[in-house]
Amino acid sequence: MSEQFDVVIIGGGPGGYVAAIRAAQLGLKTACVDAFIGKDGKPALGGTCLNIGCIPSKALLDSSRQFHNLTHLFKDHGISADNARIDVPAMVARKDKIVKQFTGGITSLFKASKGNPVTAIAGFGTLHPGKVVRIKGHDGKEAEITGKHIILAAGSKPIELPFAKFDNVRILDNAGALDISAVPKRLGVIGAGVIGLELGSVWRRLGSEVTILEALPDFLAAADADIAKAAAREFKKQGLDIKLGAKVSKAEIKGEEVHLTYADDKGEQSLVVDKLLVAVGRRAATDGLLAEGTGVKLSPRGVIEVDGHCATGVEGVWAIGDCVRGPMLAHKASEEGIAVAELIAGLPGHVNLDTVPWVIYTEPEIAWVGKTEKECKDAGIPVKVGTFPFAAIGRAVAMNEPAGLVKVVAHAETDRILGLHLCGANVSEMVHEGVVAMEFHGSAEDLARICHAHPTMSEAIHEAALAVDKRAIHKAN
Ligand code: FAD
Ligand code: NAD
Repeated sequence: MSEQFDVVIIGGGPGGYVAAIRAAQLGLKTACVDAFIGKDGKPALGGTCLNIGCIPSKALLDSSRQFHNLTHLFKDHGISADNARIDVPAMVARKDKIVKQFTGGITSLFKASKGNPVTAIAGFGTLHPGKVVRIKGHDGKEAEITGKHIILAAGSKPIELPFAKFDNVRILDNAGALDISAVPKRLGVIGAGVIGLELGSVWRRLGSEVTILEALPDFLAAADADIAKAAAREFKKQGLDIKLGAKVSKAEIKGEEVHLTYADDKGEQSLVVDKLLVAVGRRAATDGLLAEGTGVKLSPRGVIEVDGHCATGVEGVWAIGDCVRGPMLAHKASEEGIAVAELIAGLPGHVNLDTVPWVIYTEPEIAWVGKTEKECKDAGIPVKVGTFPFAAIGRAVAMNEPAGLVKVVAHAETDRILGLHLCGANVSEMVHEGVVAMEFHGSAEDLARICHAHPTMSEAIHEAALAVDKRAIHKAN
């Protein structure tokens, strides 16, 4: 007979492993099945985020930022660093060490769940009717377990373009772009989204000529237009060559080069690069996850259909994270994991998708929560906005980080905050002021009346909130 658990989770990324820890804390007998194999050939928990996503990309972003600052910005502080050079294998090894520390940390956390350890099972899980999970181990052996509850947390995979198949030597996905062993002279990127901008920035800062081809005519369409404009200006200064309205039709590997053909408003163009990163979005990783007859519904694009509480409609079967609707973000996946574990344990659990913050870890950083000015206008919501530039903030200038701005979007009649949008240094940490304010249904007036420490970057939020009512102190209204 197969072993019975209270909760079986398929997927050990930030959705699945966090759900597992919370379920175990709540006294539930929990198993977490995960198929990921790390760079060392061994099973590794943590999913995309810890292995080939959030953490390794931020490690490389930080290394490349240090190098760029040393070679470009330190001289403004009177610090000279002639003959600075980057040791790419050492930088990648540092990244790998950080990944290993965090993926290994999950194994320890599983053991330490309040005396109720999570059972980690390495292998590929498929859900069968009756809440049975069959697992194909990496050694080819098969096993079967059952759960009173099942949480599907299978995550996502990069979308592959039919004419640019990943080989991870010349044509790279996110994993390949995190493991380049020498700075490519010319890096091409398809897609000026989050991955294209972050990983394009890493290699640009280390000296690559980076060309990003984006199909849409607008830059960073998901962000507020004022923020996208300010960011685009800075990226241009950094030498990121972003070509908008560029429709790529061909990517041919010729020797050590990739030859691209694309069309823009000037007609057919060509581009030759040494490496090509394809970052055109991700898709739910639900291939092989569901056997016939489970009753779990998939959308035509393979996304698991769930309600507002991550229930699939099949009793006791839940789904969370990148394989369901909503933003593909690690913290969203984790919050859903906690909420579902709590719902299973009979507690209230809910995730407010309207207050999930977004961060793009470029330089300057881009961050937002809530609706853009355009989204409000398109929805017929009357708005008033306040903006404030970091160039007028003492701390930003003292730090040599004057780029960017803060924008508060508030309801024109109720003054309720509908969105906070930021572009600037360290705004990844500042966006949470907006999240808290919005969770507490705060108004622009509330933000404007809160005392902000001086001198800090956060004073720009205070001033932008004052500017909503045309009473900013340090700029003309
Ligand atoms: P995943 O992390 O994808 O985990 C799913 C796990 O399930 C994987 O280990 C997979 O192997 C396993 N699995 C799938 N199917 C099965 C099966 N049938 N049986 C067993 N195991 C299975 N988000 C942020 O919030 N901040 C960031 O800075 C950020 N940076 C990113 C950078 C990059 C380069 C990329 C690619 C993504 C980044 N993301 C970031 C997105 C983030 O990684 C995802 O939103 C997050 O990992 C989703 O978590 P998840 O648990 O839903 O899925
Ligand atoms: P994305 O959706 O952010 O961007 C993809 C871009 O590619 C879009 O601008 C799209 O218009 C463009 N595009 C699509 N097809 C194209 C084509 N054929 N030719 C040219 N351009 C094309 O996707 P991504 O950058 O692959 O990242 C996937 C997801 O991973 C993100 O949306 C995000 O959810 C997550 N992620 C988050 C972070 C973070 O939180 N900092 C970092 C990396 C990834």
